[in-house]
Amino acid sequence: MTNSIRYFVGNWKMFGVPSSYRIIEKIHHYLNKDKKNNKKYKIVIAPPFTLLQEFSKKFKNKKISISAQNCHHKDNFGAQTGHVSPLMIKSLGVKYIILGHSENRMSGENDEVIKLKVELALKNNFKVIFCIGENKTEKRKNKTIYVLKKQLHNVLKKKLNSKNLIIAYEPVWSIGTGKLPTRAELINTTRQIKSNLDKIFKNNIPPVLYGGSVDSNNISFFKDIKAIDGFLIGGASKSSKNFIDIIKNFYK
Ligand code: PEP
Repeated sequence: MTNSIRYFVGNWKMFGVPSSYRIIEKIHHYLNKDKKNNKKYKIVIAPPFTLLQEFSKKFKNKKISISAQNCHHKDNFGAQTGHVSPLMIKSLGVKYIILGHSENRMSGENDEVIKLKVELALKNNFKVIFCIGENKTEKRKNKTIYVLKKQLHNVLKKKLNSKNLIIAYEPVWSIGTGKLPTRAELINTTRQIKSNLDKIFKNNIPPVLYGGSVDSNNISFFKDIKAIDGFLIGGASKSSKNFIDIIKNFYK
């Protein structure tokens, strides 16, 4: 099943100061002007924790949504120095949250912890962008499909509200490297991901995004891979021009 709305999600990672809201403002301006296509896509931007409160206020009731990049796996308040809970982020008016990003998996997050985060984030009514992806060694050993299956089934369960879930397939070896999967690899991997989601959720399959080195020069490569429901964009999302050009070139 292919979802009709395409997502363009910008992950700013450790980037941004209060004045960086201008980047989002320019993207929002473009979105409003793009009458021909703007009903076909949804833009979500994930700034760091420090900017969530201000940006979600600024873009409240606007077409662009603000996302967090992570949360702690325990809810409410607690003795977790330096961390923030889903409830605390939700109280700022933030609608989306990225969970399971490979950069966080690399600093120790495992499937068990990610499962708790996904459950708590859904309980707090977030739209969850759940990241999965194989690393370079796993790809070289032809373990991609096995790894993705394991990451999906370890975290996602039938009881979860799949309507608030979005899956982001991000091959770790592609993030920030300029390397992309081949067309055949991407079609096959997306099909396998959707088939696993179908086993878990039956008819309510969440959208599946691709992430990894997407920019305005290579976006046309993805245009006719209809099974991909959008993109998670890191580096290229920190400039309004790059981000807007991705959307422009996608719909050209
Ligand atoms: C990411 O980190 O989610 C990502 C997709 O990064 P980049 O676009 O820079 O490869």
